[in-house]
Amino acid sequence: MITTACRHVPVAVAGLEVVSCETCGEVSWYRKGQWLDPAEGMAELFGQYDLVGRLEALSAPAPEVLLYRPPSGRWRSHLDAFPKRIWLEVSPELWLSHDDEHLLLAPANPLHMENLTRGA
Ligand SMILES: [Zn+2]
Repeated sequence: MITTACRHVPVAVAGLEVVSCETCGEVSWYRKGQWLDPAEGMAELFGQYDLVGRLEALSAPAPEVLLYRPPSGRWRSHLDAFPKRIWLEVSPELWLSHDDEHLLLAPANPLHMENLTRGA
C-alpha cells in the first residue's frame, strides 16, 4: 500500500530504470520511461545469476527461498538498485530481496518455482 512515507524514485541500472520502495514493497521496471514487464526486467538484471541454494523461508512471504549468486561484480551491482533485506513484490506470486551478495527469490506458486529452477 502506498503511504506518505513512500519514496518512489527511479534508479538507473543496466539501461533500465527501477523503482523499488522499502516502505510499501512495490517494485517496477521501466525502459526509457516505458513500463516494462517484470519478467523482462528480472531477466535483464538477473538472467545470468546462478542458483546456488535453497533456504527454508523464515520471515519470507513464501515457503522456500531461492538463493542466486551473480557471475561477476558488474552483475552484482544490479542488486544496489534495490533496498537490502526487504521483500519486494515483483508479482503476486514472486518476491525479491537481497543481502548485497545474493539475490533471494521467494516464489509463492510451486509452478513458478519449477520454471525458475528448471535446468539448475
Ligand atoms: Zn512505496
